[in-house]
Amino acid sequence: PELINQIAAGEVIERPASVVKELVENSLDAGARRIEVEIEAGGARRICVRDDGGGIAPEQLPLAVASHATSKIGSFDDLEHVATMGFRGEALASIASVSRFTLTSRPRDAEAAFRVEVDGGAIGDSRPAPHPPGSSVDVRDLFYNVPARRKFLRTERTEFGRIDELLKTLSLVHEDVEFRLSHNGRQVRMLRPANDERAALARVGEVLGEGFTEASLRIDHQAAGMRLSGWVGLPTAARSQADQQYFYVNGRMVRDKVVAHAVRQAYADVLFHGRHPAFVLFLELDPAGVDVNVHPAKSEVRFREQRLVHDFLFRTLHEALSETRA
Ligand code: ADP
Ligand code: MG
Repeated sequence: PELINQIAAGEVIERPASVVKELVENSLDAGARRIEVEIEAGGARRICVRDDGGGIAPEQLPLAVASHATSKIGSFDDLEHVATMGFRGEALASIASVSRFTLTSRPRDAEAAFRVEVDGGAIGDSRPAPHPPGSSVDVRDLFYNVPARRKFLRTERTEFGRIDELLKTLSLVHEDVEFRLSHNGRQVRMLRPANDERAALARVGEVLGEGFTEASLRIDHQAAGMRLSGWVGLPTAARSQADQQYFYVNGRMVRDKVVAHAVRQAYADVLFHGRHPAFVLFLELDPAGVDVNVHPAKSEVRFREQRLVHDFLFRTLHEALSETRA
């Protein structure tokens, strides 16, 4: 079974950022309001994710790190959710099979926390440990037992950059959650939860830079059963906003040709002069109208009605941008 987990790990866990993604998504699933990510040596030495979420009952701890251990499938509806979001109950088992792994957790109403250690997949006993309500996962020496994979890790800086980018992506869509990120003991990001629109824009500014907040336009429009909201950067921005394009479909960040084309056209048509527009946009539509690639590492979508989506995006942005010129 260890070998199977390691193979599974190879599919889901390619690099430190993939570990962070799985752990932070678990924290979000657990209803965390605060998530703290500590990284050492680009994640190769240590990845620690702490949350104040619902926690795990002591008797569930060993199960959580075992293969196919999800607590998230309870009904047919959930199964459909599984198909789209990829809940498979093997992330922790996979990560634990390729690292020195510790999971400590305390349910909100429990008096004590328990900790389970897994070394290269070997699950130890659960023991009491000090911990506030919530969970911490500590992942040390990632791929220490899979030299081929460890060899493929890039520089500390590159691996950390991917983690930072991932956290930016998640934090933009979970604006009501506090995120902290540190690297080698130094705090890199501290994103406070945003409860109103002003705070939300300030937080977007933390992620995309002040150049964006200074010259961006609020979008919020509904039509044809779809809603587009967020912010688009204006080409009048003094500072470059290049390469900052965040597009979410039903809460999931995607890269998509139909989307890219609609946005590019809208800018080109109105007032855009050559530079790449920056934007943070959230599209919401009936889940039945969109296929999300189930591979956890990918972010592709296929809209059932591409033309309709394209035109909705184009028109909404075109109109909003045109008004700024008038
Ligand atoms: P999945 O998320 O697909 O269910 P994982 O392997 O990621 O599978 O996690 C296994 C189980 O461990 C989850 O279903 C959940 O019950 C529990 N779990 C993991 N991380 C946390 C966390 N941070 N807080 C509470 N429960 C957690
Ligand atoms: Mg998970």
